[in-house]
Amino acid sequence: MVDSADRQKVFSVIDSRFEDFVRELSEYTRIPTISAQGTRFQEGADATRKVLEARGARVRLMPEEGGPPVVIGEIVEEPSLPWVILYNHYDVQPVDPLDEWETDPFEPVVKDGKLFGRGTSDTKGNVVAQATAIQAIRDVAGRLPVNVRYFVDGEEESGSPHLPKFADAHPELFKGLGATIEAAGHTTDGRPVMSLGSKGILSVELGVRTAKGDQHSSLAAILPNAAWRLIAALRTLRSENGKILIEGFHDGVIPPDPEMLRYLRKNSADPLRYKEVYGVSEVFGGRTRYQRLKRFMYGTTCTIDGIWSGYTGDGHKTVNPAVAHAKLDFRLLPGQRPDAIFDKLVAHLRNKGFADVSVDKHSTFEPASSSIRERLPQAILAAVREVYRTEPLVYPWSAGSSTTWYFTRVGTPSPHPPGVGYDGSRAHAPNENIRLADARQSMKAIAATIMTL
Ligand SMILES: [Zn+2]
Repeated sequence: MVDSADRQKVFSVIDSRFEDFVRELSEYTRIPTISAQGTRFQEGADATRKVLEARGARVRLMPEEGGPPVVIGEIVEEPSLPWVILYNHYDVQPVDPLDEWETDPFEPVVKDGKLFGRGTSDTKGNVVAQATAIQAIRDVAGRLPVNVRYFVDGEEESGSPHLPKFADAHPELFKGLGATIEAAGHTTDGRPVMSLGSKGILSVELGVRTAKGDQHSSLAAILPNAAWRLIAALRTLRSENGKILIEGFHDGVIPPDPEMLRYLRKNSADPLRYKEVYGVSEVFGGRTRYQRLKRFMYGTTCTIDGIWSGYTGDGHKTVNPAVAHAKLDFRLLPGQRPDAIFDKLVAHLRNKGFADVSVDKHSTFEPASSSIRERLPQAILAAVREVYRTEPLVYPWSAGSSTTWYFTRVGTPSPHPPGVGYDGSRAHAPNENIRLADARQSMKAIAATIMTL
């Protein structure tokens, strides 16, 4: 625990170094580390090393067989102290459609109090912000009350396909009194957000072939149609109101923690706002804000991400297609296992008479959650009260998926604290940005969290 006079000094040091933060994040963002396209990994890893070394960490680039290096930066104050791990990633999402960017995605620009650029929010911004905050504590108080490990992945945006092997080979790197996983953000009106885990995900591709080749559509009177065949199979997976019909799909789901439900009741966010944000006519879940939030958090999904068959070009072609495909993803809750869900999906299709529909597994992330009563989430709560003078919006997990489970499975509680981003950060989309005011607050909140431990 760092005393209150020093805490104020740490916050002033963060203020005084804020311009350096913006400059260094801009430099870091200039490297186009797009994992989906396998570009500039080594340069991205070296830049990550530079950011962390400049702030007192001992850095190793650890090879991942077949993948980009994992960057590990450690500050060991005393070997017997507990560890806090800060997980982020230096890779980013592809930038297309490029013509929708108002500025070059890899030439960061400050405009109207925001910094624009790919990776500013997801998650290069958190790497620089957290390292700056922690360095400020060391400069003021001399040392940290814990040891710190920065864990910076190079392919999270591609589902971290090489992390399972890496995690099995190096379990010690995942163990600590807590790990922050990337970060939650801020609401549009600046309220900080914390979540206690991530939903899981299973992504698959379905395919069906009903003939050797496409036919003249007049033959459809007597021959099968692949698109209709696939649609019939898809319709067995989910009811019209969203209930997933795969046998045993919900087996093992852990019932909601009553304490998390209490936080959810106090959470002032309302999914109804997506009506305006996305121009949809309806938001499912119920008549009250709490019911809608509960469905958002505790609902599972079976989503058709893409579907194609036959002729979809200009004009019209009267064809009876021989093949049809769909990409699907399932968002899963703690207690569900993606591999088991995959097996159940295959069995379901077979049992419903669709053994001819092929299922390929694309990627998975396990669901994960932690108790809010653990030390790290409690420290984050206290830090938010100190820095923002308000309560954060608390979620049992983020509705998206991440690498959280690699930490929770070895007993490390893994909350997502408020980070540099906000609801309008447009992560994965054109014009990704952070608001500088949020970034400044999040740096103080991370510093306060560490100082509280
Ligand atoms: Zn992302």
